[in-house]
Amino acid sequence: MSASKKTIYISEKHIGGHLLKPIWNFFNKRKLLNNSGHYEAICKTCNRVFSPGKPSQMEKHIISECSNVSETIKEAVIYIVESRDKSSGTKSLNEQLSLDEYLESTTIPDKHIESINRALIKAFVCCGLP
Ligand SMILES: [Zn+2]
Repeated sequence: MSASKKTIYISEKHIGGHLLKPIWNFFNKRKLLNNSGHYEAICKTCNRVFSPGKPSQMEKHIISECSNVSETIKEAVIYIVESRDKSSGTKSLNEQLSLDEYLESTTIPDKHIESINRALIKAFVCCGLP
């Protein structure tokens, strides 16, 4: 029952009923004049314009093209891409569980080793070693 949980601060925004992808956190948006429902995306870091803004292009821009972007933002976008790839299957829940199991298994051994050692000492004593 570990209380540790990964918190994701990347927010998903609802605008006009459309769910905007997390990548939009790093782009300014401007509605296209042709009323297509698409948005122009302007990179907050280097002001590059994508018209219309396509999330896959925008992600690629941050990860491999944008020269001024900070490592933190780059890592966040890589995380967005990776977590979306994972969530397309049902793996993410299992991975969360196995991470908890991993964390628990790394905190338990000290106590276990101590009690195992005591048990061994008792065993030796009980066996009446000279
Ligand atoms: Zn950029």
